[in-house]
Formats: sequence, structure tokens, C-alpha cells
Amino acid sequence: MPETQPMSSPSDNMDRFLDRGQATADDLRPLRDQAREQKSLLDTILDSMDAHVYIKDANGCMLYVNRRVAETFGRTAESIIGKLDTEVMPLEAVETHRVLDRRVFESKERQVGEESFVGSDGQMHHYWAVKVPWQCADGTPALIGVNTDITELSNLREQLREEARTDSLTGAPNLRSFVEHAEYEFTHCHRHDIPLTIIALDVDHFKAVNDRYGHPIGDTVLKDLVACGRSALRDEDLFARTGGEEFAVLLPGTSIDTGAAVAERIRSLVAERTVSAQHPELRVTASLGVATLRHDDPNFEMLSSRADRALYLAKQARDQVRLLR
Ligand code: GH3
Ligand code: MG
Ligand code: MG
Repeated sequence: MPETQPMSSPSDNMDRFLDRGQATADDLRPLRDQAREQKSLLDTILDSMDAHVYIKDANGCMLYVNRRVAETFGRTAESIIGKLDTEVMPLEAVETHRVLDRRVFESKERQVGEESFVGSDGQMHHYWAVKVPWQCADGTPALIGVNTDITELSNLREQLREEARTDSLTGAPNLRSFVEHAEYEFTHCHRHDIPLTIIALDVDHFKAVNDRYGHPIGDTVLKDLVACGRSALRDEDLFARTGGEEFAVLLPGTSIDTGAAVAERIRSLVAERTVSAQHPELRVTASLGVATLRHDDPNFEMLSSRADRALYLAKQARDQVRLLR
């Protein structure tokens, strides 16, 4: 059986030469060839990697970049090496980068995290960055960074997050989104003594609409109702679908009287609307309950339950607005 010889490295060979105490030009040739071959191997690997690989020192001087880094910044690797990161990257990107860089130099340990910046294509790119401490031959502390482009994954994650907060039928924010916004506004308005009014809306006799015209027309009514509600609001207000034929409106900075006027406007817009060209006789109405933030409200649920109680009162006659101060 032929024995496999382990590949000797240039440093093994160097040790042998040093043991002998002298080295001729002929002795050094294989050493040089081997070093050249290993550098070529490393360059090929690093330049074919689908990731940014770079080395930089504690001042941000770029000591090495692979082809992907050069391509991203629309320059050659040679024109980047020896330059400061501030001369190569947009300032915003440098600031993002330096957060992890600083942690590597301070902790002298491997650091990982997400970094985002705009590339030469003008698009925002997201990277998963892995940075490890390293020392140059002259003892200069440096770091080796490997940034993998996760833009697609990150966009997908953002899309899923957005979908989880959006009602798929109407495109309106859903209950989860409404509660998140409402809780934030509750805390903010409570702390700064800003008025906050909410409206709970329920379509009247909606089951009968479905029964008479069919579910698809019922869906059209719901979509139309969202367009109608939005048309009555400012940009900073939120109109959300919180259930089947139930909606909620968040009005930050709005008093109960103004909120009641907004609710009345929505009520009359809904009642006067022709929803379906196919069924011009189809009209729907809605009942609305309005409530406003009180100093002694311990949490958003308290305010929300008051709006529900006001809606319950409105449901006594339907197609009306009731409010609880
Ligand atoms: P009320 O005046 O008391 O509110 O009566 P209502 O018929 O509106 O209330 P009820 O709770 O009895 O019925 C609500 C209906 O809403 C029943 C359900 O089938 C319908 N619904 C819920 N979600 C959807 C939806 O996405 N599309 C359609 N078309 N109908 C829906
Ligand atoms: Mg209902
Ligand atoms: Mg209803």
C-alpha cells in the first residue's frame, strides 16, 4: 500500500532550512513556488466566495478585500487596499460596520450580527457579519470579516412580518397591528397628557347581507368599508379590521368631541354609499362606539372596553354613534 505523505507547508520547509543554518537560491525555489501556489489557492477560494471577505485594522484601514467587496463598491481590490473604510464606503455603512468592529477590538473575541447598507447599485443590502480578531505579521491588531448577503432572506422576513400585521381581504392593519399601535399610543398619550380617542365599528345585520347577496358581495362590502373609513381619516390615524365585520379606529391627538364627529362622518359615508354596481339597492349601515383616554385608565384594555360598551349602546338602535366620556 503506498503511504500518503502529508503536504508540507512553506513553514515546514523554512524550519528545515533554518535547521541547516543556510539556504541557497536553489533551496529557496521550492519554498517560493509553494508559497505562490498557496497564495493562488487562497485567492481563488476567497474571490469565488459568495461573501464579502476583508481584513482591516483598528483604524479602519483596509488590509485585504476579496472580489465581492470590490464589486459591491464598484472599485478594484487594489484601489481599496491601504485606504480607510471612510474613503471606500458611504459614511452610513462605515458607522454600521464600526459597531461590530469596535466590539471585536475591545473584546478580542469573535462577534456576529446584522449589517445593512446601500451598495453601488443603489439598493439596500443586508448582511450577516462574522468578525474575528487577527494579528498581522508585525503585531498590528486587525480583524477578519466575512459578510454574507442575506438581503433576499431579510426582505422575505420583512414581508412575513408585514403579512402577519395585515388583513389579507381588505389590506387594512389587523387586530394584532391595531393593538400594537394602540398600546404604543396609549402609553405616549398618557405620559404626555395628549388626547387619544378610539372608535369601535360593527357592520349592522351583516349576516343578512351574506345570506341575501352571497359571501363574495359581503367581501366587497368589507373592502369598500375600509376605503370609506380611510377616506375620512388623517395619515396619523389608523383604521384596522379587528374581526369579521368589526373595525377599530385609532385617533391620536383627537378629543372625544372631534372623535365623535369623525365617527359620525364615517357612519353617514357608509350609509350613503352604493357598494355594488351589480346591486345598486344594496346599502349597509354601521354602529359606532366612541371612547377617549382618561387619566385613571390603567391600560389600553380599559379604554378599549369603554369603546365596546359605547358600541353596545349604539347597537340598541343601529346606524348610530354613541360615546362614553
Ligand atoms: P349585528 O347587526 O348584530 O352586528 O348583526 P350581524 O349580522 O352583523 O352580526 P353577526 O355577528 O350575527 O354576523 C356577522 C357575520 O359576518 C357572520 C359572518 O359570516 C360574517 N363574516 C365574518 N367575516 C366575514 C368575511 O370575511 N367575509 C364575509 N363575506 N362575511 C364575513
Ligand atoms: Mg360583530
Ligand atoms: Mg355586525
